[in-house]
Amino acid sequence: MRVVPVPCLQDNYAYLVVASGGEAAIVDASEAAPVRATLARERVRAVAIWSTHHHFDHVGGNEELARELGLEVVAHVSDRERVPAFGRGVDTGDLLRLGDVEARCIHIPGHTLGAVAYFVDAPGQRCVFTGDTLFCAGCGRLFEGTAAQMHASLGRLAALPGDTRVFCGHEYTASNLRFAAHVEPSNADVARAIDRAARLRSEGLPTVGTTLDEERRVNPFLRIGSPELRTTLRIAPDADEVAAFAVVRASKDRFR
Ligand code: ZN
Ligand code: FE
Repeated sequence: MRVVPVPCLQDNYAYLVVASGGEAAIVDASEAAPVRATLARERVRAVAIWSTHHHFDHVGGNEELARELGLEVVAHVSDRERVPAFGRGVDTGDLLRLGDVEARCIHIPGHTLGAVAYFVDAPGQRCVFTGDTLFCAGCGRLFEGTAAQMHASLGRLAALPGDTRVFCGHEYTASNLRFAAHVEPSNADVARAIDRAARLRSEGLPTVGTTLDEERRVNPFLRIGSPELRTTLRIAPDADEVAAFAVVRASKDRFR
């Protein structure tokens, strides 16, 4: 199994998940042209589109690619009316088969109510596609769900094995890490992550594919209990996790 990031639009990523036999799933067909070009370059055969949520920058290529290549579009069962070319509704625990690869669906409401993650538990190369819910060093905005929903969804993702690599919907890592350094100025892992992201971006490479272990060390939204973070944002030490999460999310919304 391998994962091929496909840069789309301004800063979006589509991905190809490629099984050993050359069958590919397209995660988030943002736009058709770059996905089509990558399928040709990699010489793989797409069999499905796995959509993480209904926003246009993640499903803009669904209609065209599904029609052209005869693909089944998978999305959360509640998004039948909102995901273009919707074909199969899934929910937590549903399994998707792609050649020798199996992906498990996890409902992660918060950014949108029908957001879903796809977890591929391939031995030695676990990965999860998180859309705009868990970003590398950040998380998505609360457009439809509540802070409690998003906090629970991030908890579901963070409970996956620590070596799971995170493939999210946008190249937002550098600006997310600026916020991380603001809330935890003495976090040395954040400082290292900033250097790594800057190096990768200067070479034109994606920063995505960090592990969940790494995210737990640097991502403010997975570090709600950090004393330094709470001090910076004036969150009471005894404030509960959801209330604290809401403060961190609101501060990030305002952060420039
Ligand atoms: Zn979105
Ligand atoms: Fe997006």
